[in-house]
Parts: sequence; structure tokens; C-alpha cells
Amino acid sequence: MTLTTTWITSIFITLVMTRLLLELFLDYRHYRHINAQVNQVPSPFDQTIELKQHQLAAAYASAKLSSGAILNSWHTIILLLWTFGGGLDLLDQLVRSQQASPITAALLAFSIFALIEIAISIPESLYRHFILEERFGFNRLTIKLFIFDQLKGLILSAVIGLPLLAVIIWIVISFQSTWWFYAWVLITIFQLSTLWLYPVLIAPLFNKFSPLTNQEVKTRVLQLLERVGFSSKGLFVMDASRRTTHGNAYFTGPGKSKRIVLFDTLLKTLSPDEVEAVIAHELGHYKNRDILKMLLVSSLLTLTGFAILGWLYQLPEFYLAHGVTNQSPYMALLLFGVVVSCYTFPITPILSWRSRRQEFAADRFAAQFAQKESLASALIKMYRDNATPVTADPLYSAYHHSHPQAAERIARLLD
Ligand SMILES: [Zn+2]
Repeated sequence: MTLTTTWITSIFITLVMTRLLLELFLDYRHYRHINAQVNQVPSPFDQTIELKQHQLAAAYASAKLSSGAILNSWHTIILLLWTFGGGLDLLDQLVRSQQASPITAALLAFSIFALIEIAISIPESLYRHFILEERFGFNRLTIKLFIFDQLKGLILSAVIGLPLLAVIIWIVISFQSTWWFYAWVLITIFQLSTLWLYPVLIAPLFNKFSPLTNQEVKTRVLQLLERVGFSSKGLFVMDASRRTTHGNAYFTGPGKSKRIVLFDTLLKTLSPDEVEAVIAHELGHYKNRDILKMLLVSSLLTLTGFAILGWLYQLPEFYLAHGVTNQSPYMALLLFGVVVSCYTFPITPILSWRSRRQEFAADRFAAQFAQKESLASALIKMYRDNATPVTADPLYSAYHHSHPQAAERIARLLD
């Protein structure tokens, strides 16, 4: 091992352990915070959320935190097994023994890697849906639907991912030192096209999307769309209740394929006023161009990542420092994919902060075009019915939460 290699290895291990310990510490703080106020519903929610519902949220959050802490530790062990445990090296030897062309070797390596990762993740998913969610009454998924979902996901990733990978490897081989730039261009074009394709081709493989039929809600929403100047007719109800009782709403797609999607679970609990206010919030994201901004940020981060990988790709130290003996285009991509989040986790709180700011801005927009009291009551209902605790540990929230805390959000809304 050279000095540089030892140095990179030390940084890597320090970051891996820092991330794990930091996240476990935050989990512990959040757990303590929630359980400290389990006997009383904090104001201003004491009128709208019953103690029983508050305690259910605390128990649900605690169960998710404890299983999450175990999984986080387990994922760290898997990461170390892939790298220093020799997992990637073993995979590399297996692929090399086939003496295939670079593209075939890459397809083989990624396929084996993905199948192993899926095999590892299946017990986790089974636990999450059929034990955790089931225990708190949220699960609607059947084993049959679960298997179908997994198979569809697998086929879809293979159909989309493998050709994309083949082209990237071809780019790496053909363009030498500038490959990272062309690979980034390809990924960006791919991401943009998914924006169009996801709502019309991919999402319908997993859920049914039907037009809104409730006349009262429909009239209210159409009037809202007109007030806001939103030209799409794309308002859909998704059969989320096939899998879960959790409710949500989101905005998706660019240009003509833009649409608002409401979970059917949400329509069952919210009044027409509240649905209108929730959609006004989603329109706020659209008018503030939040999807576009998110895309721009992720595209810049990807460009930075590829530029760094373009440089690391040629350095034997990059491979050796992470437990991989031989250099190759596919191992560079695979190794980078395995370790990159350990180097980028410090930006997590910045991205969360940005997202929370966008939520506040969408709330302000909603308050202009719908009744803010309705948005506040809809939010409380969503917290209650999703069993999300209404308060959180401030540090945990700063790091993880893409949405502001309920009390702060409602206070600003009704201010
Ligand atoms: Zn939002």
C-alpha cells in the first residue's frame, strides 16, 4: 500500500463511521424526543389530535427508528464487505474468468451485483411491509402483489439500465480522458426523458390512474386551476390504497404531460376545501419551478461526480484504497456507485434545508389561492392519519426532514 492509498482508506473509513455514528445519534435523539412527550398531545394539536392517535404515532415512529438503526448498521457492514471484505474483488475475478468483451463484462458484473443487492433487500422489504406497516394497520399489500412489484421493478431496471450501461461503457472506452463529460450528457438526456416517460409509461405499470369523479371536489379544483392559470387537464386519482393506507399528493411531468396526482386514500379523509388547499400547495411547487430546480441541482451534482470519477478512474490508488485490486471501466463505475454516498452525506442537511424552504414557499402560494385554514387542517389530518409525530428533535429534523415540522409550518401558514 502506498501512502496515498493508506490516506484515502483512512478518510473513507472515518467518513463511513462518522456517518453511521451521526445517524445513530440523531435517531436516538429523535426517539428520546418523541417518547418524552408521549403522554400529552403538544399544542396547538391538542384540540385536533386525540391522545390515542398521538401515542400511536409515537409508537410507529419509535418502531421505524429502531429498525432503521439496525438496518443502517447492517448496510454499513455490507458496504465494508463489498469493499475491504473483498466482495467486489471476488465479483471482478468471476467476471474476468469469463474473458468477455468490456461491455459484456460490465453487463455481467452489474447484473450479478444487482441480483445480490436485491436478494439482500428482500427480507428488509418483507419486514417493512408485512411486519412493521402491518402491525400499525397501514399495510394493504398482499404477498402476490409484492412479488409482482418486485418482478416488474427488476424487469424494468434491466430493460432500461442494461442498455444505458452498455452505452456508458462504450463511451468510456471510445473517448478516453473526456468520457466523463459525454457520460454525463447521456445521463442528463436520460433523466430528462424519464420526466416525460415516468408519468405516462412507468407509473401506470404499478398503479391505476383515473380522472377525479367526485363532482364537488372536481368543480372546486377546476376553478382553482383557472385562478392559478394552470393549463393542464391532468388531474388524476391514484389507487394507492392497493398497497397502503398512507395518503399523499404530488406533482409530476413537464410540458403537456404535467399532472397532479392525488392518492385515493387522501380523498377519503379530506373535505373538498382541504383537497383544494392541498392541490394549491402542489401548484405552488409547479409555479415556483421546484422540479426544474431540483433537476438542475441534481444535474450539477452528477456532473461534479462524473468529473471526479473521470479523474479517479485512472488512479490505481482509488481502487486499492477501497479494497479493489484491478482497474476496469465497470469496476470504476461499480465502486464509485458503492462508495459515493459516504463522501457526499455531509450535503444531506443542505438538501433537506433547501427542500424545507420550497415547502414553505409552496404553502405561501397555497395561502394566496386557497383557504390557508383548510391547508392547516388538511396537514393536521395527514399527520394524524399517516401516524407522523407532530414534533421532532430539531437536529434530527434539520438533517433528515424534507418537510418542515408541523407546528412551524402551521404557525407560519396561519400567521
Ligand atoms: Zn410540498
